[in-house]
Amino acid sequence: GITIRNIRKSFGATRVLHDVSLSIADGEFLTLLGPSGCGKSTLLRILAGLEVQDTGSIEIGGRVVDGVRPKRRDVAMVFQSYALYPHMSVAANIALPLRMRRLSRAQRLPLIGRWLPGSGPVISGIEMEVFRTAEALGIAHLLNRKPGQLSGGQRQRVAVGRAIVRHPAVFLMDEPLSNLDAKLRVQMRAEIKDLHRRLGVTFVYVTHDQAEAMTMSDRVVVMRDGEMLQVAPPQEIYADPNDIRVAEFLGSPK
Ligand code: ATP
Ligand code: MG
Repeated sequence: GITIRNIRKSFGATRVLHDVSLSIADGEFLTLLGPSGCGKSTLLRILAGLEVQDTGSIEIGGRVVDGVRPKRRDVAMVFQSYALYPHMSVAANIALPLRMRRLSRAQRLPLIGRWLPGSGPVISGIEMEVFRTAEALGIAHLLNRKPGQLSGGQRQRVAVGRAIVRHPAVFLMDEPLSNLDAKLRVQMRAEIKDLHRRLGVTFVYVTHDQAEAMTMSDRVVVMRDGEMLQVAPPQEIYADPNDIRVAEFLGSPK
């Protein structure tokens, strides 16, 4: 699980997170929901180690990770922009976190060049891992393409592939569906939930889309101006908003 204790963060004179505390259970699907600018991405980036809090502490898997570099935290992050490398193949993009471990040139070579499963005498462990990951996401046939030759949904899958390939304990997703059209968004919701079930790992998911938050989450955190207004299962947030601002944001009567 994850424990967030008294996190504060300012950019210049602007306080973006006010004393945020939260515990997230192992295997939970938790969503940060709130309007633009409320601090969702900042909190996620602090969990990932991409941003440093001013005060407070983060524990992941029972280990305090303050000051621990992103790569050394047991987390993977999927960004809104996907952040794929355009000059590299799909296979190489997915393999990237594995390549960051110390690999010999011989192990890296097939990933940088063309993907030809079974072409060599031996498929390396990494090739196998990349292939299995791509297959699980239905993109094994795209491994030789470049990101520019993919649809939005396919790119999104590649970004997810790159995140799951090294089996992180925690999955951080920042509005991964926001670049997709409405129909695909709904379809990908189900796919991400399916992934969550199969992996059984902790998801912290960020969105400003209520429907997404309500259909996917075990618990939802409603955020506003750097504060957590309510933390509860979706039904409870709908049925019993604890703050007028939650009710207003959801458009429910109170
Ligand atoms: P959105 O839904 O638009 O992505 P968000 O909830 O993710 O919004 P954040 O990106 O966390 O919001 O930003 C929270 C506030 O902090 C915003 O007012 C933003 O302008 C500010 N902010 C974020 N990053 C920086 C930065 N590096 N420097 C200065 N201000 C920042
Ligand atoms: Mg954001």
